[in-house]
Amino acid sequence: MKPTHIEHLGIAVTSLEETIPFFEFLSGSKCYSIEEVADQKVKTAFFKVGQTKIELLEPTCPESTIAKFIEKNGGRGGIHHVAFNVENAAEALKEAEAFGIKLIDAQPRKGAENLMIGFLHPKNTCGVLTEICEQPK
Ligand code: ZN
Repeated sequence: MKPTHIEHLGIAVTSLEETIPFFEFLSGSKCYSIEEVADQKVKTAFFKVGQTKIELLEPTCPESTIAKFIEKNGGRGGIHHVAFNVENAAEALKEAEAFGIKLIDAQPRKGAENLMIGFLHPKNTCGVLTEICEQPK
């Protein structure tokens, strides 16, 4: 794989409203986008830190995987995933599979910010949930 940069860090939070001011302070920038991603049952908020973004993820219902992640973390949020930016997400997923990494998404799908995204299984990525992203063309 040849990623161009870390696209974003995904951080699970219990409340966007409560955490946005802190991440605005930390990133030195205003939250520039809040978006609900219905099929992932999350509301997201984005901040820029240079070329990399911070993506806050708030669950919209108890069945959300983010809600389950927070529950496992003793009710607190935390770093949920790392996202690598690549030129071609479909190709990168194929390369990862050929390398022996189990895929959560065999094909890229549409994520927040219209990125094409796919997840690799944390079992094969040192326990770090890893996302592959391709910028919208
Ligand atoms: Zn993400």
